[in-house]
Amino acid sequence: MIYDLIIIGGGPSGINVAISAKKAGLTHLILEKGMVVNSLFNFPVNMTFFSTSLKLEIHDIPFISHRDKPTRGEALEYYRRLVESQQLNISLYEEVQQMSPDWEGYEITTSKGTHRAKAVCVATGFYDTPRYLNVPGEDLPKVKHYYDDPHAYIRQHVLVVGAANSGADAALECYRKGAASVTMAVRGPEINPRVKYWVRPDIDNRIKEGSIKAYFNSTVSEIRADEVDLMTPDGPVTLPNDFVLAMTGYTPNYSLFEALGLEIGDDEACKPVFNPDTLETSLPDVYMAGVACGGLATAKLFIENTRDHGDIIVNNILAKKHEAGQ
Ligand SMILES: Cc1cc2nc3c(=O)[nH]c(=O)nc-3n(C[C@H](O)[C@H](O)[C@H](O)COP(=O)(O)OP(=O)(O)OC[C@H]3O[C@@H](n4cnc5c(N)ncnc54)[C@H](O)[C@@H]3O)c2cc1C
Repeated sequence: MIYDLIIIGGGPSGINVAISAKKAGLTHLILEKGMVVNSLFNFPVNMTFFSTSLKLEIHDIPFISHRDKPTRGEALEYYRRLVESQQLNISLYEEVQQMSPDWEGYEITTSKGTHRAKAVCVATGFYDTPRYLNVPGEDLPKVKHYYDDPHAYIRQHVLVVGAANSGADAALECYRKGAASVTMAVRGPEINPRVKYWVRPDIDNRIKEGSIKAYFNSTVSEIRADEVDLMTPDGPVTLPNDFVLAMTGYTPNYSLFEALGLEIGDDEACKPVFNPDTLETSLPDVYMAGVACGGLATAKLFIENTRDHGDIIVNNILAKKHEAGQ
């Protein structure tokens, strides 16, 4: 079987592209290394999206949530229902490892075998590779790069590293759900100005009143089993510590991009090279979709503002077919 389109990644963007392909009568296969919307499954259990469900909705398929902004659970349900109701062809727990051109398109090697397609879409997101602190002790099991559930941190000394949305959310939730102490280590002089406008006053005020301790212009220098060292403007500080939540962001998987043969731009964001009008990369018939398009600039693209990617890609495939008289 040679598919018209193979989509790498079964996140919101991969699902969106697959629905566009299905509507256009193109055969498709989604290859997903984990479960359906694997990244969303690994989001904090109590998170609420900053977007309203209306803004996350794709292909005019209603996304119903109890409140304006959906929870993680509601989003998982929406994407599960999309996969089922649209009868998408998705292979789960199948990781793409390599890609090479063949005479009719591309051959894709996965953890389970090989597949062939005339066109390929890379929709692998950025949630697989944490930005590491690169300090001694980071490999201790108490250091988490994914924040899950505050319950684990009841009566514990928690250090949250980073003050963007994930850091602010984790610090507030651990403080409210009974951590013995929550301290933040913040590289810059203040809470990140991009923190959601309804969260910013909450975190600023908890720091001001001393409920959450924050060290600004400070970095972690070493993590040990029951302590952590910070370098602060007033010199080194050692704190008692049970858990470190390193909320320092994520990057796309550049080794995968290399294995796929994608060209990376020399801009600051190291974005894969693609035509912004068609999303086609410098490899013919290979497209980028979703937040992976943003490279290291992971805050620029999200589900809301990449919802047109499916139709852009599929329209380009159809236009090429038309030109070739197929
Ligand atoms: C906590 C949090 C809250 C957010 N809230 C919002 C919000 O409110 N609104 C909004 O618009 N955006 C939000 N975002 C951003 C956006 O939701 C996510 O980045 C979203 O997951 C992007 O979708 P995607 O399909 O492009 O990438 P992903 O969801 O990351 O999907 C990529 C998929 O590719 C798979 N994959 C990776 N490598 C391989 C491989 N080699 N082989 C096969 N499969 C592979 C992954 O397992 C994953 O399922 C939020 C992000 C975070 C972290």
